[in-house]
Amino acid sequence: MNTSSEPPSATPEFHVLVAAAGQGKRLGGTTPKQYIEIHGKTLLHHTLENILHWPGLKSCHVIINPEHKDLYEKSVTGLDLPPFIAGGKERKNSINNGLKSIPNVKNDDLILIHDAARPFTKWGDVKNLLYALQSSPCGASLACPVSDTLRKAGQDAIAGDVIKRDKLWALQTPQGFRFKDLKKAHQDSDSLSATDDTVLVSKLGIPVKLVRGSCYNIKITTKEDMILAKALLSHQAQAETYTGLGFDVHRFETEKNTGRPLKLCGIALDYPYALAGHSDADVALHALTDAILGTLGAGDIGQHFPPSDPQFENMDSAVFLEKTMNMLLARQGRLVNIDLTLICEHPKIGPYRTQMIECISGITGLESARINIKATTTEKLGFTGRGEGIAAQALVTITLPKASP
Ligand code: MG
Repeated sequence: MNTSSEPPSATPEFHVLVAAAGQGKRLGGTTPKQYIEIHGKTLLHHTLENILHWPGLKSCHVIINPEHKDLYEKSVTGLDLPPFIAGGKERKNSINNGLKSIPNVKNDDLILIHDAARPFTKWGDVKNLLYALQSSPCGASLACPVSDTLRKAGQDAIAGDVIKRDKLWALQTPQGFRFKDLKKAHQDSDSLSATDDTVLVSKLGIPVKLVRGSCYNIKITTKEDMILAKALLSHQAQAETYTGLGFDVHRFETEKNTGRPLKLCGIALDYPYALAGHSDADVALHALTDAILGTLGAGDIGQHFPPSDPQFENMDSAVFLEKTMNMLLARQGRLVNIDLTLICEHPKIGPYRTQMIECISGITGLESARINIKATTTEKLGFTGRGEGIAAQALVTITLPKASP
């Protein structure tokens, strides 16, 4: 069990395979449950929308029954996904197909397996799962302690033995592994029928950690679950909008070529002067981080990453932004847009603008079209006009759920 271990410095990168090849007809009707619409989007779409906001996501592949191709294509309209992977006869075959087909994955990469019918997974829980995987050579699964009294059902549903529940946890997804471990587990499991990947990995002798997941991380299986899902999605839809403003200034180093580059918006610019500061002095990412902290009512960058702390010396400011994004996502927040203004006479920002937008998009998970970078001068007036430093302003809009249910 891993509930409160101190997280390492940064969230690791990971791949996701989404198991969506099931027939899922316990809800009734002829449409598999992952393609049933709730509030105008399919269950699968809701689940994928959630996953695509997780920071550190390297790839997300969906495994489907090829017979459902048309339902699938319609279902994922508007989402940025690679081509689907064809599933197999049973869940285990489907995951195995996924592991064989997923491109550009290395043996030590982390891979998460997730159910298509779990749209309410909280990023904070996924992050704890990733930290558990990162801190030891294990597998890990989100799980919830069982709270009901458990008894075996005898003949004619007469209650039999009581099963002690104090050590019983119900497993959820995502479940996470190192790619090589899961691949080997599936290679070695031809004769096994398993509905859960942790069972296969445990058979290799690899420990599986149970990481506490939210009780809202339900798998939509029955009509009652669907009613609950509608209610939870209605609640999420009642998002409130917040805006935050960030402003920062850093002066240029007085010496040319101090050994570190000028960093702006996460990228290094070809320029003879760097900015002075305790971290890498990326004035734009500092303003942006402050703006997001503003939306959360969470103080300022100096409180969270004090310049007096030696661990932040020469720190890549992308880490500040990523950690702040994690705070936002932990509250089920969504970035809506970023408007960033850089104020300086030099360097010229235009040639770097596209690369800067892509970099911020990579760190925040926000699509490029919602990120704007402007540059202006102060007509040679003031400290920016004299070329003594660079100023940056950021305006950020987010939404947060009205309140946690
Ligand atoms: Mg600063």
